[in-house]
Amino acid sequence: MKIGVIAVQGDVREHLRALERLEVKAVPVRKPADLEGVSGLVFPGGESTAIWRLLKWSGLVEPIEELHRSGVPFFGTCAGMILLAREIVNWPERFFGFIDIAVERNASGRQVDSFETELEVKGVGRVPAVFIRAPYIRRVGPGVEVLAEHQGHPVMAREGRVLVASFHPELTEDLRVYDLFLTMCS
Ligand code: GLN
Repeated sequence: MKIGVIAVQGDVREHLRALERLEVKAVPVRKPADLEGVSGLVFPGGESTAIWRLLKWSGLVEPIEELHRSGVPFFGTCAGMILLAREIVNWPERFFGFIDIAVERNASGRQVDSFETELEVKGVGRVPAVFIRAPYIRRVGPGVEVLAEHQGHPVMAREGRVLVASFHPELTEDLRVYDLFLTMCS
């Protein structure tokens, strides 16, 4: 199985390493040809507005939309979640909109308010979770399943083949959240 990691900005290396630790072939995606033959696509944390601009500039937006239509599963962490969300409550743009949720950018605080905690993830168990200026989910559509909450705020969700998390599983040793995504891809 080959999984692509969007590699225009953000914590790309950490995602590639997490996938390699799970013995999956991981490929950085910088141009449309890199999407060839991927069974899943990861959108890393970083700065969503910068990633979006670079995706447009690299001609990746349409090929990614095409890949989504063809049924390939997507996983977005943090900025990646913002890119996949249908609505951003505190930002005038919207990006791909593949999952019917509204998110609030930087809802968990400024950079200095980044923190690590433990979360109960449905179907996975208790996992360590790193939050870095994380978005919170403010609304979920009828087809969306919330998989984890932090202090009453939904922070992980799934709709069909799209999985999103406010936190960064790629920054911890515990890769069970990643396993969940790989199950969706196989
Ligand atoms: N605040 C960032 C954004 O809005 C997300 C932060 C992150 O990915 N760690 O894109």
